[in-house]
Amino acid sequence: MSNTQELTSVRQDLQPAVIESMQKGGHEQVVHFYDHATGLKAIIAIHNTWLGPALGGTRMWAYNNEQEALTDVLRLSRGMTYKAAITGLNLGGGKAVIIGDSRTHKSEALMRRFGKFVDGLAGRYITAEDVGVNTRDMEYIAKETSHVTGLPEILGGGGDPSPVTAYGVYLGMKASAKEVFGSDSLNTKKILVQGTGKVGQHLVDHLVKEGAIVYINDINKENLSQVTGSHPSVQVVEGNNMFDLDIDIYAPCALGATVNTESLEKLKCSIIAGAANNQLADELVHGNLCREKGILWAPDFLINAGGLINVSVELEGYNRDRAMNATENIYQAAQNVFRMAKDQNLTTIEAAKQVAEKRIEEIGRIKLSY
Ligand code: NAD
Repeated sequence: MSNTQELTSVRQDLQPAVIESMQKGGHEQVVHFYDHATGLKAIIAIHNTWLGPALGGTRMWAYNNEQEALTDVLRLSRGMTYKAAITGLNLGGGKAVIIGDSRTHKSEALMRRFGKFVDGLAGRYITAEDVGVNTRDMEYIAKETSHVTGLPEILGGGGDPSPVTAYGVYLGMKASAKEVFGSDSLNTKKILVQGTGKVGQHLVDHLVKEGAIVYINDINKENLSQVTGSHPSVQVVEGNNMFDLDIDIYAPCALGATVNTESLEKLKCSIIAGAANNQLADELVHGNLCREKGILWAPDFLINAGGLINVSVELEGYNRDRAMNATENIYQAAQNVFRMAKDQNLTTIEAAKQVAEKRIEEIGRIKLSY
């Protein structure tokens, strides 16, 4: 075997089976990009464009290998399709990943090169900020493409989306309360907010204003103090003790996968409704476990969609009131999901996915019939 043959066979072995993965996940397009000059390595996954152009942020992360980056971008882009569809937006789902350490690998040239890459897709994919990408990077990307949203206010964008996200989570929580307690009032309800970052802090504002009894948990002491400084009635709960509390509602606003076998063994609550993405460690297992335990889980991709709504409003010329108004649909959308889950004996995640898929099918069919 010649050297070239050897190399070819090794490469083929290492090739992630992209088309096979796309087939499994229902993805439309996956584009790889490599730039020799800047060392930019990026992948854009477009999951579905039946409702409109694929929108989703760009994540920069030091993935251990290309397969890991591909798995992430495929998973995240699919999630964006469901989020846009269930929220009633005319947008599809997409996502981009840049492979590299955001603290050391970034440069103006790299981000602008990435902007050109996005531009090459001619609007099929619209990018935005995500983990590892900041406002400055967005400015660079926006120099090379107009297919970008979620820009800072000084650049004519909508700025920080977290107040809008928190408002949607608050409304989703109220819809959950209506379903479980028969009233959507959160007055005197005991609510644990895990994660008092940008979204968590705004959520606590709404909850305190409504007279809820609020407990908070965070690994960041400064963020905890900020909350207790503005709301002295809020109580801090340390570390793992939080799941021993007797509460009505648990609001995960920090990390994904906190709804897992271990936490569900301890949790004493009737509702889980929070901002964090991918809260269920395993959608099937923990979706079912919530139902068995009589806990109503409000689908994260529905009730945290305020951020996406915010950037979608920006595409038409930003207006915060319009973003807040559009976010109010989350209440009704959550009620529809809960009703469907009850009527058809589904978990709430199954019901939410079916609602999203039905809308994609129905609207997609109208579009195809032009
Ligand atoms: P953030 O980084 O401002 O806040 C996260 C908070 O969680 C921080 O205070 C952090 O210290 C805390 N935290 C991290 N690990 C923790 C742990 N193990 N235990 C307790 N606290 C921990 O993020 P954010 O913008 O407030 O977003 C919160 C969550 O909501 C994230 O999962 C994010 O992906 C999701 N989300 C945010 C938006 C948005 O508009 N910002 C939109 C949709 C979804």
